[in-house]
Amino acid sequence: MFSALRVAARARGFTSSSTVDGFTGSVGNTPLILLKGLSEKTGSQIYGKAEFQNPGGSVKDRAALGVVRSAEEKGLIKPGGTVVEGTAGNTGIGLAHVCRAKGYNCVIYMPDNQSQEKIDLLRMLGADVRPVPAVAYDNPQNYNHQARDYAKTLTNAIWTDQFDNTANAHAHYISTGPEIWEQTNGDLDGFICATGTGGTLAGVGKYLKEKSGGKIQIWLADPPGSVLTSYVNSGGKLIERSGSSITEGIGQGRITNNLGTFVNELSGAFTVQDEKSIAMIYELLHTEGLYLGASTALNVVAAVELAGKLGRGSKVATILCDGAYRYQSRLFSKKWLKMKGLEDAIPEHLKKYAVL
Ligand code: PMP
Repeated sequence: MFSALRVAARARGFTSSSTVDGFTGSVGNTPLILLKGLSEKTGSQIYGKAEFQNPGGSVKDRAALGVVRSAEEKGLIKPGGTVVEGTAGNTGIGLAHVCRAKGYNCVIYMPDNQSQEKIDLLRMLGADVRPVPAVAYDNPQNYNHQARDYAKTLTNAIWTDQFDNTANAHAHYISTGPEIWEQTNGDLDGFICATGTGGTLAGVGKYLKEKSGGKIQIWLADPPGSVLTSYVNSGGKLIERSGSSITEGIGQGRITNNLGTFVNELSGAFTVQDEKSIAMIYELLHTEGLYLGASTALNVVAAVELAGKLGRGSKVATILCDGAYRYQSRLFSKKWLKMKGLEDAIPEHLKKYAVL
């Protein structure tokens, strides 16, 4: 029966021949997609790592699993324990899945300005969600500090500390980086992505740079309002933030420990304006058939720009972070686009996709 099903699946073009172990076994091993339309248009090869195919729906499943595994290996948490994190989005969703699959309690502190969809999803996944006032990092009431302080009051509990716990970048160093290397046979000229915690960029960047002996250039892409581009291009000065962005989960006001492990080895950094990111969300849908979020769109704009810098025929990879589902009431709403002054950023022939 089983093998008959497999044969039938193969006949339909599904060629998987092995099984994986539960939720945690299905994190990673995502396809690397050649973005055909964009590659043809630019004369380069633009690849996107399909992280939206992770079982919890985003690139952060790898970090969530990585920080929990690291705590287990150090004996910091035992069965029945509690995982506490401060997060506004995908890390919390990844952690809530990992906790269910491993039998831990999950407590998530988040700023109280987050969408109801995210709060509902976390609660459906069994997390204890604690909205707290949305105040800056230097305020002791910030969600990250509250998560840290609460974890200290419990026994058999960890604060996973996604920003400064380098088990996050390490998860990408041992999985995402090697996967991209194998999927391209190391034949790549550049890798670029935006950062939130910096885990993805530092982990993937370090692996690809080491493996290629420095041949693969690693670049950082930034949304408006983030300080990282100016930090990299000024040789290490932290300049005050100005501006803001519609992208979620990326941009940063400080050098986290995760980014800090690699920031001095970057070849460069540049900012991508929201007008270009929003247009790329629609372009990816129309040309590639991919329904992806704003941080992904920013990454793809940046990959195209980097390919331009590296020369015709160059090969550049980036991260396709998550699907558009978690943001669709904004990104595909005419009213929201208008409110943000972004309706005219979408080319006329793509406006038909803004159906909400
Ligand atoms: N895109 C999205 C949608 C995210 O949620 C995040 C994580 N905050 C990132 C990109 C950036 O990943 P990292 O934290 O590894 O820098």
